[in-house]
Amino acid sequence: MTSATASLERFAADKLGQLDRKSLRRKPVETRHRDAVHVERDGRELINACSNDYLGLAHHPEVIEAAREAAAEWGAGAGASRLVTGGHPLLFELERRLAGFKGTEDCIVFGSGSLANLAITPALVGPDDLILIDALAHACLHAGARLSAARVEVFRHNDLAHLRTLLAAHRAEARHAMILTDGVFSMDGDFAPLPEILALGEQYDAWTLVDDAHGIGIVGDGRGSAHAFAPPAAAPLQMGTLSKALGSYGGYLCASQRVCELLRTRARPLVFTTALPPASAAAALKALDLIETDAELRNRPLALARRFCSRMRLPEPVSPIVPVILGSADLALAASAALEETGFLVTAIRPPTVPEGTARLRITFSAAHSESDIDRLAKALKSILKQPEAAE
Ligand SMILES: *Cc1c(COP(=O)(O)O)cnc(C)c1O
Repeated sequence: MTSATASLERFAADKLGQLDRKSLRRKPVETRHRDAVHVERDGRELINACSNDYLGLAHHPEVIEAAREAAAEWGAGAGASRLVTGGHPLLFELERRLAGFKGTEDCIVFGSGSLANLAITPALVGPDDLILIDALAHACLHAGARLSAARVEVFRHNDLAHLRTLLAAHRAEARHAMILTDGVFSMDGDFAPLPEILALGEQYDAWTLVDDAHGIGIVGDGRGSAHAFAPPAAAPLQMGTLSKALGSYGGYLCASQRVCELLRTRARPLVFTTALPPASAAAALKALDLIETDAELRNRPLALARRFCSRMRLPEPVSPIVPVILGSADLALAASAALEETGFLVTAIRPPTVPEGTARLRITFSAAHSESDIDRLAKALKSILKQPEAAE
């Protein structure tokens, strides 16, 4: 071994040792997903209660068929960036469709939601600018903020007074400003107060970017968190993902025609990446058909979350994401392992995904769950939480 290789190996071993001591090492486990809720792991069947396939569309026969047809006709991969070889018409159709659905002038489809967030913020602001970001906003929104090299100020979660204070203190020194927040928060399931945030954005001339990864398909008649408010609280920059309720893969930004035009030319993670495969676009288009026409499907995950919370005597949820906060990583891991014993897959969520001391079970509900799945999950979790000593 050369000495550089040896020092790299030593570094990796030390880091892994530190993570193990804090119960923070993560391991992907081979798992076969039969549908949105039935998975096989280590030869056992488990009920999945931590997926983001909220509507079960990743396994919907019509969505699969749309992807299959597109792949058979147009190939498995796109081959190059859309700016080099041109993009498949399905991508353009998907963009028109998403813009229409969200009520914006235009839309851009990205390789993933994470890539969208690494693209959007750095294309709009830089070192002379200011970013205000919610502390609990998704990791990729934070990463995009840092990548932009703008001054980043973090406001306490959903704390409008703190946001206002930071704007008052720092806005005047900056050329441009952005406010970044999730619409529905990924690990807590609560909403951002979008009307008030947009009003502050108006008052201080700050552009609001809302990440609606967990809103699209689910809240606001499926059109996302902006439409969960009356009148709609439509931020000028609305991004989201095709990979959760839409059951496919990819990300999007809905915005004005000019802003999209600028990003198409300037957003580096869009310009310097291969286009989405046609099959992903075809699947997302079919998912949008199903979401637009089936209110019962859209409403079911939240109805099931409510059923669960009423059985658990938890506060009434506003989205299909229900956090059960346990505190330490060890407690969360033990509760997750105990649930797995009873046949449920609910992975422990630990720092840095969530703040220190708030490790949790993040339970998510899918239209594909049955009522009896939910009732059995509530029963199993109640008995696990009653016996903390058993979880040691
Ligand atoms: C999952 C998620 C993303 C990333 O989307 P991908 O398409 O999976 O890359 C972005 N923001 C939030 C809030 C998310 O939960």
